[in-house]
Amino acid sequence: MKKYNFNAGPSMLPREVIENTAKQILDFNGSGLSLAEISHRAKDFQPVVDEAEALMKELLQIPDGYKTIFVGGGASLEFCMIPYNFLIKKAAYLNTGVWAKKAMKEAKLFGEVVEVASSAADNYTYIPKGWTCPDDADYLHVTTNNTIYGTEVRKEYDVNVPMIADMSSDFLSRPVDVSKYDAIYAGAQKNLSMAGVTVAILKEDKLGRAPREIPTMLDYRTHTEKGSMFNTPPVVPIYCALENLRWIKAQGGLEAMDKIAKQRAEIVYSEIDRNKLFHGTVTCEEDRSLMNICFVLNDEYKELEQEFLDFAIKERGMVGVKGHRSVGGFRASCYNAQTIEGVQALVACMKEFEAKH
Ligand SMILES: *Cc1c(COP(=O)(O)O)cnc(C)c1O
Repeated sequence: MKKYNFNAGPSMLPREVIENTAKQILDFNGSGLSLAEISHRAKDFQPVVDEAEALMKELLQIPDGYKTIFVGGGASLEFCMIPYNFLIKKAAYLNTGVWAKKAMKEAKLFGEVVEVASSAADNYTYIPKGWTCPDDADYLHVTTNNTIYGTEVRKEYDVNVPMIADMSSDFLSRPVDVSKYDAIYAGAQKNLSMAGVTVAILKEDKLGRAPREIPTMLDYRTHTEKGSMFNTPPVVPIYCALENLRWIKAQGGLEAMDKIAKQRAEIVYSEIDRNKLFHGTVTCEEDRSLMNICFVLNDEYKELEQEFLDFAIKERGMVGVKGHRSVGGFRASCYNAQTIEGVQALVACMKEFEAKH
């Protein structure tokens, strides 16, 4: 049975990215050594980091004055590094889910935190609107895609302070105006690479302003000044990210990623809206994530939940469609590597299940 990968993260990568990375793990650039066995300071590895940085700059059209770093620690470590480095007195956070809440919790260790709005009371099923951001905040933190709830902010907010974004689960899925941000960060394992590397894009002249001493490894300047080579970076995940960046470029860049993301999402959401068994948990159309599509059974069919999971996963190969435990139901994660064939197979499976009931 063919498997379709709808895992939320770690998640699907293009087959050729996996294959090319596997080849280099066996024999890196014909050296007779594995990519896993060489020094990050080997002369053959520096070009990997350089090319990954250059491709990031090209694909996202990162303006001059920003540095891209590849570090460990996951997006969760960035939750603390961001306020450590950027919070001077006051920071504003938009609370759109548990990841946003965790980011906010860390910021409170460093200064005043203003929650500009929250959709917690409705289990984060929408993106709050009509809020204002204090003009004296050092930054506004947003989580552009809420992986668990299936909501997404697909635009830059018009605020009077710089933004900082956790883009872990929609990074490189669409063009972004990087100039609006002081920092963008993303754990790689949703839409960029295998787990183990985290990317941060940082506005360099905003670093070093926070009025506190920062431990060396948590100071972004340690990594921007040493080209991500202060200590041993996650070599294999960085290489895998490079292969994925090459793949994205070959597909036509972020415009192409955006276009196919819209096509995939349209296919799945229209089936959710049409199918008599299901409905989407995010009802406001502009808030619906193109990356994580969440849906549940209608009340009169609620008892079919386990049956649908068994059918979809075990009989039709729809891996990872179980929703996050805090939301329940189902979640189809459709990152860059997800194919139209994959989402059509999911729709066929939903229709088949509907016909049985
Ligand atoms: C998965 C996820 C995180 C946590 O990432 P780690 O790399 O596991 O720390 C943070 N934010 C968002 C939006 C995520 O999807």
